[in-house]
Amino acid sequence: SNPFLCLNYESAFESLGDDYYDEVAAEEFPQHILRWRNDALLPRLGLDPQVVKDEDFITAFGKFEGRKPFLAMRYHGYQFGEYNRLLGDGRGFLYGQVRGTDGQLYDFGTKGSGRTPYSRGGDGLLTLKGGVREVLAAEALHHLGVRSSRCLTMIETGLSLWRGDEPSPTRSSVMVRMSSSHIRFGTFERLHYLQRPDLTQKLLDHVIKEYYQDLDAQENKYALFYAELVKRVAELAAQWMAAGFCHAVLNTDNMSITGESFDYGPYAFIPHYDPYFIAAYFDYYGRYCYINQPTVCQLNLEMLQEPLKAIIEKDDLNFGLAKFNEYYQAEYASLMLKKLGFIELPHPQAKELLNLTIEFLGNSKVGYHEFFYEMARTFSAKWRDEPGFVMNTSDIVPVPGASGIFDDWCILYHKILNDLDSDRLETIAQTLAFYNPKTALLRPVIESIWEAIFQEDNWQPFYDLVKQIQSRQ
Ligand code: AMP
Ligand code: MG
Ligand code: MG
Repeated sequence: SNPFLCLNYESAFESLGDDYYDEVAAEEFPQHILRWRNDALLPRLGLDPQVVKDEDFITAFGKFEGRKPFLAMRYHGYQFGEYNRLLGDGRGFLYGQVRGTDGQLYDFGTKGSGRTPYSRGGDGLLTLKGGVREVLAAEALHHLGVRSSRCLTMIETGLSLWRGDEPSPTRSSVMVRMSSSHIRFGTFERLHYLQRPDLTQKLLDHVIKEYYQDLDAQENKYALFYAELVKRVAELAAQWMAAGFCHAVLNTDNMSITGESFDYGPYAFIPHYDPYFIAAYFDYYGRYCYINQPTVCQLNLEMLQEPLKAIIEKDDLNFGLAKFNEYYQAEYASLMLKKLGFIELPHPQAKELLNLTIEFLGNSKVGYHEFFYEMARTFSAKWRDEPGFVMNTSDIVPVPGASGIFDDWCILYHKILNDLDSDRLETIAQTLAFYNPKTALLRPVIESIWEAIFQEDNWQPFYDLVKQIQSRQ
């Protein structure tokens, strides 16, 4: 009667056949300590959080009792530009697929559940820090309006393991990700490498049927699929950029075919607007630095044309990809304007404000998240008390050395406000507050969470932080 085992599992991916996966078993862990359960996701599974016990999470996702088969998905991918045919699920597997109450098909994908045929030299495990990092990233991104996978649960395993970047053995976890799909660009790249257009066709039909349902009945569904994927990925890149997020490892095996963001390793939220900010210590040349993310996504989409050429006309692929920039710019502008308080703004004013905002942020090195949060706070505090107030430098945050641009910015912002009806100020205050939460997932914040866990065995700061993120505080 474990509610997770009683879910109505579908075999959408499994029924494609074993050209696409290997059946694998899970690691047996000495301990199972439930560290995190994402009750916010349970209603989407038709489950009542009040009814689901901690033990249910452990039995299903820590002891892995009562469900099979588990599938290690096969894929290749371009890693930092180099083709790697030795990839595949090396420390995780597809636990099962279920249909949400929203009608969408979801994957439960494990991370840290043990070795598979694709582990190569790896141990198949996930550090506790890594589990905490992914839980936090997914919740933060989701609540900032990024289309992201979420984590369903994280269980400490009692196994200790060695990692090169840690001085001593460290604790490990198994995490379960709930995502729209774990089929990657690299899943298709592998089929191209194997010269199997028949398998590409079958997989693409599956992807369109499950994740591009609106297109399935269309006559030119393949061309439309690629055009829609381009749109989704362009919008995703814009969502990362507006959120101030640097994914860090945009290899094609980390790009979902549904255009959803997933797999969070050494990511970072930018402390201040630095186009060349690099998140991964092993990204020596800054290939995946903050500002490169849209370009890299576009390039990954271009490389995906190689396997898709077996099915989609070259002209259709080019036509689809040519729209990337337009989609990206539209989504980025729309999200940044929301961060500035505007749901809509006439085009010339919007462009001027955006350019000046980026110029100011880049020159001043003011905290990216701090700037927007302080702006939201100042705005809503002041305009109610002082109708017609003028925001000035000291109202926001200390901005050493950039007061010139900031003055220009203030003048423009006020000019825009003055052109609006005063009854729109309340909406602006609400928009600012909604899109600019106080809590930012900067690295020192994550490190303080680890410190409490590792040094004081205190998980409360982690739970408090997740709660703040989930309530958009
Ligand atoms: P990623 O970190 O997502 O870019 O992973 C790249 C590849 O390395 C994937 O095939 C992973 O499954 C694999 N991998 C990463 N960490 C481990 C590990 N600790 N043990 C086995 N395989 C791993
Ligand atoms: Mg990965
Ligand atoms: Mg990874």
